[in-house]
Amino acid sequence: MSKSTFIRGNQCLKSLYLNKKRPYLRDKLSPEQLAKFRRGHKVGTLAQKLFPGGVDFSPRSPSQYQKAVLQTRIAIRTHSYNILYEAGFQYDRLLILLDILVYENDGWHAYEVKSAYKISNTFILDAAFQYYVITNSGIDLKDFTLVYASEALDYEKLDEYEDIAPLFIRQSVKDRILSLQEYIREQVKVEKATLMLDKSPQIDMGPQCYDPYPCDFIGHCTRSAQ
Ligand code: SF4
Repeated sequence: MSKSTFIRGNQCLKSLYLNKKRPYLRDKLSPEQLAKFRRGHKVGTLAQKLFPGGVDFSPRSPSQYQKAVLQTRIAIRTHSYNILYEAGFQYDRLLILLDILVYENDGWHAYEVKSAYKISNTFILDAAFQYYVITNSGIDLKDFTLVYASEALDYEKLDEYEDIAPLFIRQSVKDRILSLQEYIREQVKVEKATLMLDKSPQIDMGPQCYDPYPCDFIGHCTRSAQ
């Protein structure tokens, strides 16, 4: 289970189930959503320049995720790099890629980049899930920081910036995500149990269909309700 799958399940267990068992029922991505994904990727790459000289473990395809996990494990164990991009971690069949992992004076620090001008509750939950997987996989994380856009960052100029520092704000969220660790543990159990069901859970459409993200099964659920 990935971070995005966990967040999907937290939004709606039916969406979690359909995404895994009936992915062909998903609505097509709109051009706006595609542009948003591309923008997020560009912002993430730009933010890596805040920590230059790292080694990139980005998997080229989902089949390479295990390789990223293995490379990360070796890099940490051997202290061969102090800065890792897209570091892979796995615990209890949960898998995450962390944007930036940095070895500082007191130990490992995690940085996750968000293409947004403020921190939302979903970003905190998402960070809590990452922290849960990383620390349970055996890494003693000293801190977990969200890196998000300052007012100086213009999404239309992502290819033009040379001075990166003013474009981002860093905020430690470790205190907030520590208090969510038990919730993560319980929600993971609920989501794994849902994925074992023979058919999708009976859940009516409601506010959860758009919060925190527009669900990509709205077309299917709307047709089914008619
Ligand atoms: S459209 Fe709504 S009810 Fe249907 S899977 Fe998505 S969130 Fe759940």
